[in-house]
Amino acid sequence: MTTQILPTDFPEDLKSSVSEAARLLAQGEVVALPTETVYGLAADALNADAVAKIFAAKERPTFDPLIVHIPHKNDLDMVAEVPENIAKAVTKLIERFWPGPLTLVLPKKACVPDIVTSGLPTVAVRASSNLVFNRVARTLGKPLAAPSANRFGAISPTSANAVRAELDGRIPLILDGGACLHGLESTIIKVEDVGESKPRFVVLRPGPITMDDLKPFGRPVLLKNLKGDHKIEVPGQLPSHYAPRTPLRLLEAPDDFIPEHGKTYALLSFCGDEEDGYLKLADWKQTFVLSPGKGKMPEAAVRFFFALRELDNLGVDEIIAEPMQERGLGIAIMDRLRRAATKR
Ligand code: AMP
Ligand code: MG
Repeated sequence: MTTQILPTDFPEDLKSSVSEAARLLAQGEVVALPTETVYGLAADALNADAVAKIFAAKERPTFDPLIVHIPHKNDLDMVAEVPENIAKAVTKLIERFWPGPLTLVLPKKACVPDIVTSGLPTVAVRASSNLVFNRVARTLGKPLAAPSANRFGAISPTSANAVRAELDGRIPLILDGGACLHGLESTIIKVEDVGESKPRFVVLRPGPITMDDLKPFGRPVLLKNLKGDHKIEVPGQLPSHYAPRTPLRLLEAPDDFIPEHGKTYALLSFCGDEEDGYLKLADWKQTFVLSPGKGKMPEAAVRFFFALRELDNLGVDEIIAEPMQERGLGIAIMDRLRRAATKR
């Protein structure tokens, strides 16, 4: 199969590219589309055969459920039921964050095939704010299942070229919508009524909507900090993910790195500041600074997966990554870095 990349830059490109994507999706094909988080590999979420092609192209195990993207923020009832005891909180979250990078895990409707949810009674749902994605979803008029458009476990793609590097020859079409606005996958939460005045938001995956963003609406708690008071289903959250082929080591402290003779290294640095006790840039032949200068988290997030891809292509023996502060977006970036550093 040849993989076509179609542009969306000008109105006439956008129109013809969107209709070609919608035509393929209506036929039960898969198409890679830009979203504001990362590029997704989309299929009609209500067509089990189409969704099976996503798993095949990505070589994704079927125990890892997909996120469903509804065409419009008011379309939640296409795929999910909202329990009455959390309805008010869910409405407020949708009003504030949709369309955008927040995914809600809710009880699923019967029309959603088991392959989408890995047999779970719940479905993960969001509404994307990306113009190209929206046009396609609205032209098709159906929810789209769309995990990141990379091979399973590999680096998420934040450009059409990155999708091609991952899935060339395996999918018919990529719509090129340029770079992704956020560059990190959506925040995933489960809203729970725990009998307190505020609902609890269990953050299953940290992302662009931060703990601070969520606080006015409930009590967010990171899954890893959840006390053992109840079990929560966490499918597909594997310790190794987002991983380059090159081994990646995440430093805990500057002194942790002692180069081995004869080995080659590349450095992934947050801001490239030589005075913060971290590594001197000048000592490194190969570096990627995520946000040069003061180090801004949103810029680091946007460039993060691109940086991993670039460093991975250098052919060094090891990528060394500096940690960053685990606050705000730094929680999501550090989550990706830890998984990237874990051996498969
Ligand atoms: P992605 O690969 O970015 O589409 O993200 C899919 C991830 O969403 C999965 O790996 C799960 O961690 C999570 N997810 C999807 N559906 C569910 C669900 N029903 N319950 C809990 N987590 C889910
Ligand atoms: Mg993914």
